[in-house]
Amino acid sequence: MWSSARQIAADVRARRASAVDICREALRRINVADPPLHAFLETTESHALARAAAVDAAVAAGQPVGPLAGVPMALKDNICTRFSRTTAGSKILAQHRSPFDATVVQRIEAAGAVVVGKTNLDEFAMGSSTENSAFGPTRNPWDLERVPGGSSGGSAAAVAAGIVPLALGSDTGGSIRQPASFTGVVGLKPTYGRVSRYGLIAYGSSLDQIGPLATSVADAALLLSVIAGHDRHDSTSVDGEPIALTADTPPDVAGLRIGLPRQYFGDGLDEEVRAAVMAAVELLSQLGAQVVEVDLPHSQQNIAVYYVIAMAEASSNLARYDGVHYGHRSAAAADIFELYARSRSEALGAEVKRRIMLGTFALSSGYYDAYYLTALKARRLIQRDFTAALARCDLIACPAAPTPAFRFGEKSDDPLAMYLADVYTIAANLAGIPGLVAPCGFSRQGLPIGLQLLAAPFAENTLLRVMRAYEANTDWWARRPPHGVA
Ligand code: GLN
Repeated sequence: MWSSARQIAADVRARRASAVDICREALRRINVADPPLHAFLETTESHALARAAAVDAAVAAGQPVGPLAGVPMALKDNICTRFSRTTAGSKILAQHRSPFDATVVQRIEAAGAVVVGKTNLDEFAMGSSTENSAFGPTRNPWDLERVPGGSSGGSAAAVAAGIVPLALGSDTGGSIRQPASFTGVVGLKPTYGRVSRYGLIAYGSSLDQIGPLATSVADAALLLSVIAGHDRHDSTSVDGEPIALTADTPPDVAGLRIGLPRQYFGDGLDEEVRAAVMAAVELLSQLGAQVVEVDLPHSQQNIAVYYVIAMAEASSNLARYDGVHYGHRSAAAADIFELYARSRSEALGAEVKRRIMLGTFALSSGYYDAYYLTALKARRLIQRDFTAALARCDLIACPAAPTPAFRFGEKSDDPLAMYLADVYTIAANLAGIPGLVAPCGFSRQGLPIGLQLLAAPFAENTLLRVMRAYEANTDWWARRPPHGVA
């Protein structure tokens, strides 16, 4: 088990530990623990060792090193890095090498982090299980017959298995929070605009955010504080209030109002998940929080609205994979139109094709008003629901997913069943608000269950404070999965 990222960085700064030794240990852990899981698509050994040596040299020379000094990290493989391939889990980008580093990569490296590898994901982040990866699925460290969630399943599994203490994922409709829930780790989707998307391979540009996966709330806060802030390469990024959370004193939650949306506890919610989330809310109320019921009346529309908007944006974003600009180019084409069609047909997976077709249809002349425009209007109503609900409370508590981790194949033949797994996470993306997930119990079968907290735009500090109080009063955090580093 790693000590916290905070502790690793403190030890490296104080020369109690060497970044190179820590990096070697992380690489060893990939070798021993990853084969049954397949969380990693690529290990970036030589780059990592060079970065770690540079951190040690800076410490030795008395130069300042950042808050992530020597911390080994994994990055979801839709985050562009010059020092490895960036595949987005797709055959079409199987050999793609980005000419630049994403802004988040520049920031974590400037803070001293050591990237040891790139992690598996559903192709182009489209999915909820990693079963859509062109390179084979990732397995859940708690049960190898079950999915780790998706699409950031590789990053979540790598952290849950103790291979790395910290990872980055991306969340368009739950892809950080649902895998965090399925693997028993902390996952944070920041407010839309909090973190630069420059160098994140775009899926749904009005929904996508990059965020941390960690083993503690304080580590998630630390990583968010490093990656947050305005970037001139992403005009949607803004400077919010700085992220501040001290790991040592559990914050006081007395007097905070926690809203329970009645629509999030109805049909389709697994009884064990309901019981675990309600017990967590009960604990927060014993700690002094006040529980109120709130209403999110348009919740019924979440899935339909999200999938129209996400697919429409995806169809437009993925037009660039045409066999000319990027990636796979068909060898069998006689003219330019055949080149486009064949390159895409040969190298994109079934789910990605389904979304491109549905998204193109929703945007097409004659159907635009009926589908895309209607979805945009409904999105505004969903946003207003949250504004109204969050006027009555400081944060909302709800499940992260309707069930614990499901089995391979259980939903992969039925796209609608898979889409329903996102029912509690997608609204935060539609509304642009932050969401934080952390473990709040285990099912009888020993599978982790996650608690989700949602708050107003840029109120990440409230989420982190309350979850830190919850963490300090529970011990789910100490449990280790059977398939990981001892
Ligand atoms: N499962 C959702 C989808 O397939 C969300 C994915 C994500 O957040 N990247 O769109």
